[in-house]
Amino acid sequence: MTVELISVGTEILLGNIVNTNAAYLAEKCAGLGLSCYFQSVVGDNEERLTMVLQSAVERSDVVILSGGLGPTEDDLTKEVAAKVCGRSLCMDDKSKERIAEFFASRDIEPTENNWKQAQIPEGAIVLDNDNGTAPGVIIEDERAKVILLPGPPNELMPMFEDKVVPYLERLAPGVIVSQTVKICGVGESKAETVVKDLIDEQTNPTIATYAKTGEVHIRVTASAEGHKEARKLIKPVVKELKNRFGNDIYSTEEDTTLEKAVVDLLLANDLTFACAESCTGGLLAARLINVPGVSDVFKAGFVTYSNKAKRKSLGVKKSTLQKHGAVSKETAAEMTKGTAFVTKADVTVSVTGIAGPDGGTPDKPVGLVYIGCNVKGDVTVKKYQFNGNRAKVREAAVAAALSLMRGCVLEYFSKVTFGKK
Ligand code: ATP
Ligand code: MG
Repeated sequence: MTVELISVGTEILLGNIVNTNAAYLAEKCAGLGLSCYFQSVVGDNEERLTMVLQSAVERSDVVILSGGLGPTEDDLTKEVAAKVCGRSLCMDDKSKERIAEFFASRDIEPTENNWKQAQIPEGAIVLDNDNGTAPGVIIEDERAKVILLPGPPNELMPMFEDKVVPYLERLAPGVIVSQTVKICGVGESKAETVVKDLIDEQTNPTIATYAKTGEVHIRVTASAEGHKEARKLIKPVVKELKNRFGNDIYSTEEDTTLEKAVVDLLLANDLTFACAESCTGGLLAARLINVPGVSDVFKAGFVTYSNKAKRKSLGVKKSTLQKHGAVSKETAAEMTKGTAFVTKADVTVSVTGIAGPDGGTPDKPVGLVYIGCNVKGDVTVKKYQFNGNRAKVREAAVAAALSLMRGCVLEYFSKVTFGKK
């Protein structure tokens, strides 16, 4: 079954608002197993909206429109949809009552144009709006089901979730379930090579790789009659991915980010953490502090941007800075050791690099970053060369620091387990 999305609003065309409704609806529809081949944005203009909707009902099974259900003159989605589907608009008493209640409960006097929102295309299904005044509408045209939803995301999302999803599930039985295997510290091309044979053989479930900054996500998607059957198809594939990627997989949970996985690892092993950052300027600390519950492990984060700060706050030796420079293996090592000395944290990470656009030399080009990690005295320093602008280099350095830290902690404990410590 195909679905097509039409976002209505001149504000979207002008770039004044970001079309988050389309992203939300597209993702949800894909999850329901609907194929989305077209998405359009059209302004609050009767003629052009008519044109877009005409083509949509001819070529798609379901057409979802968002926006333009409000009370004002420029809100004309319902009027256009009724016309395209050959229906007249009639007053829906229940919707009128709900609108009256909505205003009464807020002690506001409705204006005459508010009743426009209770006008429903003849024979349409009304979707009550629990968070606003404009009801949603489903017109079951013989060419396509036309679904109208209010523009504000806080009204559209619950209406879609509670009312449209069950409707679509009845139209197209079967489910699409996916699970994401999240990998860090492995490049996209390497990850793709590792799973190439699985991708080549894929039918159901399908396997797709997505490159993120410093991470690769592999999404395994199955279609089946029910959730249970779909999960049964996914399970052996995820198991095989675990065999192939081992410890490089940091999570298979939808909600787990890399920073959360790292914080969970520290919490599970009762380890405290501190960091010293130069070119990332606090981004690493900020990402970790995104995670609720991090206060149990996070001790301190230093932004030691100047050489003086590296010396004064962390005890990096003047001679090291003079001989090797601030962006060097030696400085990264002294930064991480100094952080451990000052904070007494179990795990410390240091980042020093050249984010650009200036400051690069043939020897030390823009994007060169050294990251040091110290786990209870075991110090590792790695050299990285990232591409992209200043923001990209900094983001990549943070992701690499999280991966390195995770890797070093896991390695430390594997040594402990195997009696080498
Ligand atoms: P209202 O009753 O508020 O007029 P409406 O259904 O007529 O609702 P619009 O007038 O098109 O919807 O949009 C109202 C607001 O909803 C916009 O100002 C914007 O904040 C948000 N909105 C609309 N469309 C989108 C979209 N595609 N993505 C994200 N937000 C949107
Ligand atoms: Mg409006």
